Amino acid sequence: MSAPILSIKNLIVRYGSIEALSGVSLEVMPGELVALIGSNGSGKTSMLKTISGQMKAFSGDILFSGQSISGAPAHKVTGLGIAHCPEGRKVFATQSVEDNLLLGAFLRSRKETRKEISFEMDAAFEMFPILKERRHQLAGTLSGGQQQMLAIARALMSKPQLLMLDEPSMGLAPIIIDEVFSIIQRLRDSKKATVLLVEQLAFRALQVADRAYVLEQGHIRLTGTGSELLGHPEVRKAYLGNRAAKGDKNP
Ligand code: ATP
Repeated sequence: MSAPILSIKNLIVRYGSIEALSGVSLEVMPGELVALIGSNGSGKTSMLKTISGQMKAFSGDILFSGQSISGAPAHKVTGLGIAHCPEGRKVFATQSVEDNLLLGAFLRSRKETRKEISFEMDAAFEMFPILKERRHQLAGTLSGGQQQMLAIARALMSKPQLLMLDEPSMGLAPIIIDEVFSIIQRLRDSKKATVLLVEQLAFRALQVADRAYVLEQGHIRLTGTGSELLGHPEVRKAYLGNRAAKGDKNP
């Protein structure tokens, strides 16, 4: 059996006296799509920010391909092969679509030729034809769904081994959410990258996930395959009815 590509051990993350993660452990195997679901404030974003080096853990360890990356700066983590597609997309609004994609390949541009990078750009345009159409348009003038596609495509430009997506559905209309999830499904099926997906739309995330973890107030509450958790009474209770987020799909 292969070794995990990402292994989180007893991670504790604090903002002053607020504990966002209270000893979380999880693993992602190569080629898997693992979802991290949980309600507002359960610690999902803090987890991704700590993995990508934007925040420092209070204690615990983060291993990427067996090597500790705890406390490593963000540029080093990116260079090792982890791409973080942040909550709220954060595209470079005043840059063109094409320039946003080139910025995603910035660390590669030191070692690789323009030809190699333009190969990846072509692959991005094949996956997201709308971005090709709009390649010269300023990113800030794209619709929310198009900006989300650009954020994913930009992250893929670094040719990551691990792609982390934070709330890709946020602020999008249900029909666009369908499109974003079909892209995530295609990413999973193509095995282009291992994916760690953070989502509030629990049912949608569980439908595309190989495995998932349910985070609750900084603790892992449940874990299992996507289909096991879809049918789990606690998950159904927590995410059905009044608490079901807008745009979620209960199968
Ligand atoms: P959401 O879906 O709302 O983004 P989340 O599951 O991603 O929630 P986090 O954003 O990681 O959760 O927040 C976890 C906890 O840490 C919450 O109690 C939150 O209030 C707290 N927190 C997050 N960011 C900060 C900050 N900059 N300063 C202080 N506390 C913070």
